[in-house]
Amino acid sequence: MMKKLSFLLLLMLIFIFRTPLPALADEPEDGNILILNSYYRGFTWTDDEVDGILSSMSEQKWDYQISIEYMDWKRYPTQENLRNFYNMMKMKYASKDIDVIVCTDDAAFQFALTYRKELFSNAPVVFSGINTEGLVQIAKGQDNYTGVMEKINPEGTIRAALAINPKIRNIYLVYDNTESGLSTGKLCRDAATKIDKNLNVVALNDYKSDSILNFVSDVDKNSMVLVTTFFTDTDGSNIDHELFCEKLSMVSNVPIYHLYDFAMGSGILGGNLIIGGLQGEEAGKLAVRILNGEKASSIKPIEMYTNQLTFDYPMLKHFGISESSLPSGSKVVNAPFSFFETYKKLVITVSLIFAFMVSFTVLLLFYIKRIKIMQKKLEENNEELSQLYEKLAASEEELRLQYSKVTEANEKLEEYSATLYYRSHHDALTGLYNRLYLSEEIEKHLYKGAEEGALYFIDLDNFKYVNDSLGHNAGDELLKAISSRLMSVSTKNDILVRLGGDEFVYYTNEIKNKDAAEQFALKILDLFTIPFPISNNMLSVTASIGVVMFPEDGQDLDTLLRNADMAMYKVKEKGKKGYRFFHNLFKEEFLERIHIENYFKKALDEQEFQLFYQPQINVNADSIDGFEALIRWDSPELGYLPPLKFIPIAEENGFIITLGEWILRTSCIYIKMLNDRIQANYKISVNISVIQLLQDDFANIVKNILEKTGLDASLLELEITESVIMESAKVITKKIAELREIGVRIALDDFGTGYSSLSYVKSLPITTLKIDKIFVDDIKNSDSNTNVTDTIIDLGHKMELTIIAEGVETEAQLAYLIENGCDVIQGYLYSKPLPEKELEKWICNF
Ligand code: C2E
Ligand code: CA
Ligand code: CA
Repeated sequence: MMKKLSFLLLLMLIFIFRTPLPALADEPEDGNILILNSYYRGFTWTDDEVDGILSSMSEQKWDYQISIEYMDWKRYPTQENLRNFYNMMKMKYASKDIDVIVCTDDAAFQFALTYRKELFSNAPVVFSGINTEGLVQIAKGQDNYTGVMEKINPEGTIRAALAINPKIRNIYLVYDNTESGLSTGKLCRDAATKIDKNLNVVALNDYKSDSILNFVSDVDKNSMVLVTTFFTDTDGSNIDHELFCEKLSMVSNVPIYHLYDFAMGSGILGGNLIIGGLQGEEAGKLAVRILNGEKASSIKPIEMYTNQLTFDYPMLKHFGISESSLPSGSKVVNAPFSFFETYKKLVITVSLIFAFMVSFTVLLLFYIKRIKIMQKKLEENNEELSQLYEKLAASEEELRLQYSKVTEANEKLEEYSATLYYRSHHDALTGLYNRLYLSEEIEKHLYKGAEEGALYFIDLDNFKYVNDSLGHNAGDELLKAISSRLMSVSTKNDILVRLGGDEFVYYTNEIKNKDAAEQFALKILDLFTIPFPISNNMLSVTASIGVVMFPEDGQDLDTLLRNADMAMYKVKEKGKKGYRFFHNLFKEEFLERIHIENYFKKALDEQEFQLFYQPQINVNADSIDGFEALIRWDSPELGYLPPLKFIPIAEENGFIITLGEWILRTSCIYIKMLNDRIQANYKISVNISVIQLLQDDFANIVKNILEKTGLDASLLELEITESVIMESAKVITKKIAELREIGVRIALDDFGTGYSSLSYVKSLPITTLKIDKIFVDDIKNSDSNTNVTDTIIDLGHKMELTIIAEGVETEAQLAYLIENGCDVIQGYLYSKPLPEKELEKWICNF
């Protein structure tokens, strides 16, 4: 910025002070020029002529010494003046070399020619301002001269006057009676005649000057006055020409024209005037030619108009003549001084420089101000910066510390994200993959194309009982042990997943057909043949496996898992421990199940469930011992549903807890009410699901209900399926024992199907054995001795248990059972399960 600025400044200075370089020292003079003037310095005409001469000279490259002399012959046309001038010239020039003499007007020419030999080294003479008559008269017998003829132009002047005022009819000519006056007068007359013969030309040469003034003051509007050579009055006295012109203009009503430039400014309007400057210029050129070596005598005097249409500004104004009416090429002089017009270039230049300087100054000031502002800002910034620097230095250390902390944190973060990824894709307990991983992998594979393979849904059988009887730690240990056995059969590309709980999934795309799939299912089942050593026990665990083949059984994980689950469920239904391929029919069953599930809650709320009661007869006393409560569901949406259809589903989804409690409470309320009403002591037998028994507070629930209903605990018998007790004896036994203590009776339902040994039964806190219907069905006649019922009854009695036979349909069966000492009989033979009203009728009829 500063560089740019100083360059600008320099440029400007150069521009302002661009003065011309000083001229070299004058070369040695090549010659001397004498300019000899007839009149005086200050006489406009003479001054113009001299200026013209000098201007021609100045165009030359060489240097001459120029002397200028004035004879002052106009003001002093006396012999005395001439004598004095002569003396002076003699004194000045007698011993000086003159190379050319340039004369202006007659007197000087005459003097030069007369005295050049004596005074001016006989130099050649160049004249100017001399008319034809003057030349003839003066140069008679002379040689070695040349010059510029003075050619007046009356025609141009008269035409200009007519152009300004076409009505002009009269031309008044003012000239004297000298030779030159008469000749110019004649030229004027001739010119007027040439222009228009009808113009009335009046010459005033015979009038005395005063009379002329009088005359002119009277001329009419259609006139012009043309003044030419008028220096001598009729009485021979000299006339001050300019003064006369002034007087004339003061009295005249019409414009006064002239033929000579020098009269301008003396009241004349103008004309086609001889210009002193132009005369001088031409004379100067001739002098230069002579100095350049041409002989003066060989140059013919120049006859040319050195004229210019010239008009006086004040007089134009005086006569109301507009500049536009002047002939073309006219020049207007003596216009009021206008500084601008006169010094236009200078003014513009100075203004430009001034404007430039002002703008430069403003610019400079602006920049100075900006620099100051910047300087101030810089100082402030500097201050801030040093403060900042200090702070930075302080925080750098801190930053380093932070950086290492960040790096550390970053490393930890990376580690953590890896861990996180691992955790989110693995099962925490077993280290197997989880469902998320499987779904991501399957998305990669299954959707990509027709990938083939098999998916196994592996569910442990009765895992709940392990967990409940041996504790969660044992359960976890078992799951881990199973995982590692499963791992042992998995190959690299297979995915082994723990879905949660006791469910595993095995995904493989290396098995392409059902035969191979079956082989592998068996291989998995094989893993379970050897018991697992857990918590000092050898646990025998089995598994149920559902198998799906893809892509035919599903093309996404959800479908595959759902279908495999269904197949697995089928295995469970059919007694667990085994495998099953998915079949489309399962879907319908499954859907039905879903349907049933959906209606459970509504069924309970809207009292669609109902309890039927089936009598149990004490054959020894021939009396009603009690009733078994059996649930019925007549659904408006699904129709009648047998308990064997919906109870397993309710067990599966846990609804049995709510439903079971409702059954227990409803049946207890009913039997209490019935007993109270008819003064009886009937027992009530209620079927209890294993799911209910697994509840921690099951005993409390029962106690609570007994308390609320006021039913005697000894009138309540809970029927528990034999197989259930066998599978989770430890947990269940404790609860049963607790209930036993308050007098609740416990029956082992479906006895004989669970393969439990009677010796084991002995250790259980039960009161009743309920012989399963299949054994009763086996009794064909009273003397059949192949039946096992008698053994059961016998051993049962030894253990002081009450024996009930269910499903008794025939008299023969009844007879056989009575004969073998069975205590209580239940079956269609006596009655089907009945609703409350019918039951009460039945009791009346018993
Ligand atoms: P269960 O406990 O063994 O019940 C006896 C079943 O045998 C009842 O079938 C009953 O109606 C039927 N029955 C009784 N006498 C005869 C007969 O002489 N001939 C034939 N053919 N059948 C007879 P139901 O009511 O269909 O019950 C089936 C099973 O559903 C029950 O077997 C029981 O396991 C379960 N169940 C029924 N009600 C309930 C209940 O309230 N709670 C629970 N947890 N399970 C129940
Ligand atoms: Ca039962
Ligand atoms: Ca039964």
